[in-house]
Order: sequence, then C-alpha cells, then structure tokens
Amino acid sequence: MDIAAGAREIDHSTRVFRFAPSPNGELHLGHAYSALLNHRLARENHARFLLRLEDIDLARCSHAYEEQIVEDLHFLKVDWDETRRRQSDHFDVYAKGLDVLRETGLCYRGFMTRGEIRRFAELRVEETGDLWPRDPDGSPLYPGLDRRQPAEEQDRRARDGESFAWRIDVAAAVERTGPLEWEEWGRGPDGESGRVVAKPAEWGDFILARRDVPTSYHLAVVVDDAIQGVTDVVRGRDLFYATSAHRLLQDLLGLPAPRYHHHDLILAEDGRKLSKSARDTSIRSLREAGLQRADIVRMLGLEGVV
Ligand code: GLU
Repeated sequence: MDIAAGAREIDHSTRVFRFAPSPNGELHLGHAYSALLNHRLARENHARFLLRLEDIDLARCSHAYEEQIVEDLHFLKVDWDETRRRQSDHFDVYAKGLDVLRETGLCYRGFMTRGEIRRFAELRVEETGDLWPRDPDGSPLYPGLDRRQPAEEQDRRARDGESFAWRIDVAAAVERTGPLEWEEWGRGPDGESGRVVAKPAEWGDFILARRDVPTSYHLAVVVDDAIQGVTDVVRGRDLFYATSAHRLLQDLLGLPAPRYHHHDLILAEDGRKLSKSARDTSIRSLREAGLQRADIVRMLGLEGVV
C-alpha cells in the first residue's frame, strides 16, 4: 500500500475531525473536554468525525479500557461516523511507513537505552558544566553516537540481539525538507496561532519505531491522519510541540498537513495536568457519583457551547 498515493485519492471536500484517545486508562475530564469540543467543531462544520484508539503500547492498553471509553463517549453523547480504528490492527501499515522513511537514508538504529542516555547526559554536565539539551517533554536528547555507524555494523548488532530503536537523523532531515510550518487555529503555550514555524530539531533524533513495535506515536499518528483523510486535528495543548515532529514526518512521507487546533488543558485543582490514575476526575467515577452529562458540561465551562 502506497500511503501517500492513498492519501492523494481521498476526497477532501468534506472536512474530517478525529478524537484519538489511548485506551491505557479511564477517560478524565480533560479527555471529555477534548471529545466534546472536537465533536462540536466537526458537527458545526458538517464534517465527518472519527474515533481512533491509539493502542500501540500493547502492555498498557486493553480492550476493557476501550469499551469503557466507548461507554463514556455514549454517555457524553459524542457519536462518531464509521467503525472505530484501532492502531494495533494496522502495524503492517506503519511498518510500510517506516520502510519509506528508511529509504530516505535519514534513519538509523540507536542502541542506547533510556538509562544510558540519562547517564550520558549527567556525565556531560559533570564534565563540561553545560546543561545537556532536553526535548519539550523534558527527556535528554539522544546523543546520536551511533548515527554514523555503518549499516553492516548496525545489522550485526541487531542480529546479535541488542535492543535498539529506529531514529531519525533530525538535523539531516530538516536540511532535506527545508522550513516547515502549520496552520494553528487554536493556541500554543506562548500564544502561537496562525502560521506556526515547526521546530522538529527540538526533539533531537526522535524514535520512529522500536525493535519489537514497528511504530512510535509520532509515526502512527501521521500515517493514520493521512489514511483517514483527517483535515482538522483538535487536541490538547500538551501536544502542540509534537506537531513539529509530525510536520517533519508528513513532509518526508509526502503526506498532506491537516490544520491544527490545540485547545486549553483542563487542569487539576493544584494546577497540574490531569492523569489517568486520578480516579476522582475519571468520567466513570463522576458517573458513578450520579453526575449527568449536563453537570460535566457545566464543570468544563462548555455550557452553551456543546
Ligand atoms: N493518543 C493521544 C493521547 O491520548 C492523542 C494523540 C493525538 O490527538 O494526536 O493523548
């Protein structure tokens, strides 16, 4: 399957929105806000609205959580068109996307583990006194020591059973694509809107796939958005910076760029991001406590909007 050719054949005259939760926990108020707003914008624009389950992390995702999500969305009166797409059913498609990226010559196997990267960064700080750069999520950037390792050596290490992740040489990739932008209908953390300049280098040589899972979140999301003909990505502001990585992959894979709308995050009372383990804000526990849809809409400040 040629992902880019498939994406070109899609009729883009109808806009397509999607809600894409990961079934690795219960939906909380933040997800409810995202789903309700997304759904509202889709219906207002006479667009199609899709549900996609992002379950590539098979160890943490489950069908039980997926069914719970479906129940919560019914309760919120968020309905979707077509059958839901489950990413774990499409690993072969992401593997094809990875092949296309590998053919660009911009990918390599990175053999350093998360612990090794952390220790490398700590050592550099001790040695030089300079801070080692971190990505927008706060993780140290990949040092890329194996970036120029000959392919035969990489193959040998992989055959010998060393664990690795496929990474992109981001500096070389940026050189290849030239400057990239996206259209932001919402707002970034510093108020960014309109045409936003992508800065994929902020992520360093990010992961495209792992030894045993042929995709990462970044790769799967751009492939799916293209295959599903998504024209409008409405999601939380916590994913604003990820859009830079997505634009890079879309360009390298020859895929269209959707419009993006990054919305406000619903924060916990202490100002922190809501987490899936915080039972008190899960939709299920609020329902069990007897709250109705209207109560949740009011709590989210969406009265009169949805
Ligand atoms: N699956 C991601 C999440 O649960 C959302 C991805 C996206 O909307 O692009 O946060």
